[in-house]
Amino acid sequence: MTEQSSTNTTQELHYDPQPIEEKWSARWQQDAKLYAAEPSSSQRKKYYVLEMLPYPSGALHMGHVRNYSIGDALARYMWMRGYNVLHPMGWDAFGLPAENAAIKNNVPPREWTLKNIENMKSQMNRLGFAYDWSTEVTTCFPDYYRWNQWFFLKMLERGLAYRKKSKVNWCPECATVLANEQVVGGCCWRHEQTPVEQRELEQWFLRTTNYAEELLRDLDGLEGWPEKVRTMQRNWIGRSEGASVDFKVEDSEEKITVFTTRIDTIFGATSVQLAPEHPLVAKLVGENAHLSTKVQELIAEQRKAKEAGNVGAIEKHGVATGRFAVNPFNGEKVPIWVGNYILMDYGTGAIMSVPAHDERDYEFAKKYGLEIRIVIMPRHEEGSNANPDEHVLPFTAENSLLINSGEFSSLSNQEAQTRMAQFAEQHGFGKATVTYRLKDWGISRQRYWGTPIPVLYCEKCGIVPVPERDLPVVLPEKVEITLQGGSPLSRVPAFVNVKCPKCGGKARRETDTMDTFVDSSWYFYRYTNPALKNKPLDTATISYWFPIDQYIGGVEHAILHLIYSRFWTKVMRDLGLVKNSEPVARLFTQGMVIKEGAKMSKNKGNVVAPDDMIAKYGADATRLYTLFAAPPDRDLDWQDAGVEGVSRFLGRVYRFVMRNANARAAKKTEVTPRLRAVQRKLHQTIKRITDDFDGRWHFNTSIAAIMELVNELYIAESELASSNLLDEVQRTLVLLLAPFAPYLAHELWETLGEKSMLLRQPWPKYDAAMAKEDEIEIVAQLNGKVRCHVLVPAEIAGDKDTLRDFVFKDEKVRVLLEGKQVVKVISVPGKLVNIVVK
Ligand SMILES: [Zn+2]
Ligand SMILES: [Zn+2]
Repeated sequence: MTEQSSTNTTQELHYDPQPIEEKWSARWQQDAKLYAAEPSSSQRKKYYVLEMLPYPSGALHMGHVRNYSIGDALARYMWMRGYNVLHPMGWDAFGLPAENAAIKNNVPPREWTLKNIENMKSQMNRLGFAYDWSTEVTTCFPDYYRWNQWFFLKMLERGLAYRKKSKVNWCPECATVLANEQVVGGCCWRHEQTPVEQRELEQWFLRTTNYAEELLRDLDGLEGWPEKVRTMQRNWIGRSEGASVDFKVEDSEEKITVFTTRIDTIFGATSVQLAPEHPLVAKLVGENAHLSTKVQELIAEQRKAKEAGNVGAIEKHGVATGRFAVNPFNGEKVPIWVGNYILMDYGTGAIMSVPAHDERDYEFAKKYGLEIRIVIMPRHEEGSNANPDEHVLPFTAENSLLINSGEFSSLSNQEAQTRMAQFAEQHGFGKATVTYRLKDWGISRQRYWGTPIPVLYCEKCGIVPVPERDLPVVLPEKVEITLQGGSPLSRVPAFVNVKCPKCGGKARRETDTMDTFVDSSWYFYRYTNPALKNKPLDTATISYWFPIDQYIGGVEHAILHLIYSRFWTKVMRDLGLVKNSEPVARLFTQGMVIKEGAKMSKNKGNVVAPDDMIAKYGADATRLYTLFAAPPDRDLDWQDAGVEGVSRFLGRVYRFVMRNANARAAKKTEVTPRLRAVQRKLHQTIKRITDDFDGRWHFNTSIAAIMELVNELYIAESELASSNLLDEVQRTLVLLLAPFAPYLAHELWETLGEKSMLLRQPWPKYDAAMAKEDEIEIVAQLNGKVRCHVLVPAEIAGDKDTLRDFVFKDEKVRVLLEGKQVVKVISVPGKLVNIVVK
């Protein structure tokens, strides 16, 4: 495309984003109220747009830029649509990296964290994100985490928080607990030769399982969530209906409770299988050294598979304990095995093995030569006589009949499931039951940089909650962090040793801190009123703002963060604090930013730093590129050449407006065909972008549409310059660009002589008549073959019969039809006319 100005002018009009962006960034930061929402008494419709708050690691990465560019475009669009927009930002400021950095650089976690926040905030400001910083939430500040403690006390009161023994990863060398991500290949991340042990520690748990059914059921109502996220949550909650059945251990008072979804096959059980970590295993193994070694091996295999994330595909191994259990349905003795594929945290950690009718059991029985007994057969057509031995094993169909099953033989399997569960319940050895994969949430961390858990242990009174009036339990500063010898807080006597508020005697403070997922479970409520002193939130304000209209973040948070947030909301509702049962109406999960096909990482050396891109191309171009290079829900493969292209496009916009901004006098009103084309393109572009914001968010096509529009403007520039259309065209172009490239849009708005605030300018309305194509190209076919094209006025192309008549009158078509007999005509409005001839 050649530009119509002289070389000299082009050079004068060189687009340099740096001074423009610095000027506007400074102006915006001076105006503290610029992005503030109106109070909940506002007459405007509210819109709460939220991006997931970052961990203050020190610098933004491109994934952040993409996430926030999507949210910012939406926020700006909704402001222009006249909504009362809440667009906050905060910091998920507690967590292990701060402790690691403290050791490495000898900086206290708080200092390190606050410095990082300062840096990332200035990056966000440089990028021009429209956040209302007056509502900023920083989770490591006592005025925030005191409410974590308050919620914990409320949950404790209601039995939703409790303490129990639980296994943790323990490095004997560090003498401390390791997070799962600190266990590398079964060894400590700092001591690569030291195998990590499992230790039992008293831990605090929240009863997420109390809400399992509701968390599952309410997913159906979350229609604004991606289906894949709902599916992930359903699987995570993992509801299965079945029955529990007790098998007595022979020569013992012990029993093994198995959970099965197929009680109808219980007569085919030929062994009972225990998870290697099942509490009974140690008793059954006793002093037997060989068995004990074997069990340790199974534990190690299972842990390895868990770490690799493929426990479902583990190569199955097991060992017979030499002991037997009694099947309560037929009194039969079956061997008790320990299997590496049985998980302690699913069901009861014990199963009955029915090799004939379960894939996994079949594979195991074949390997170890266990008996395979058929107890169900397919339902056959009436009168047929099937031999069950001929089935292909394992036979697992639900629609089947029982055989070899005592009094239950010949029942359908559905009926058998009900009757056998009832039978078990009547005889006191089992019952129908529902089990969930979802577990209670273990929140204890043997860490320093987190919310202190507000309980005391008194020698006389036992567990004593910290009285509400004594909140917050403030995290002490100047604590030595070594990652050794348990929680750092346990080595701070002034923190640990307290007086019992009940009896005045000696008490010891809990030294564990809370999982940081607690912080992020409710932070978005606090944004509505972050300075509130006497309560975590104001119910009336929450009723106005919630649920969140649009939440945007990475799909890696599809499970934990989003399940905990939903759980927290339901607890808050039951405490009478909020009226909504779900926090988020619509969820969007953006794709990753990758380079050369791989995730950006320091190790691969393929990291693109936002600061570098801003210095080279400006914030607008960087932001615009993250929106333009791929649909937001897909991965974006970073190409430096692509940013450069986007930057050149912004330069074209800049030069066009700079050249024509002041040509405002003596305007012609005539609309030539070329100007009509511009007008049409303009309104089509408004429609496309508006539809995309309201619909599928394919900002890449929105931006492509603006690029096409700018091409049209260049083609028509000389005619536009003397036309009264110019004003509308330039203003609209700037408005359309405002959500995506706010700096340039503001600069050009001012250049156009506008004094009003661009952020609150009404979003342009599209005019259907203006957007309509004047003529549409219709395909003319003869016997299904394309023969020619006919230009048809747009207003008649939509009507089947009128379209047919118009095409028949076309000269080219008339020639084609000469001497032929028309048998049939198929007219497809807006597309084609097919004429069948003899
Ligand atoms: Zn270690
Ligand atoms: Zn006491």
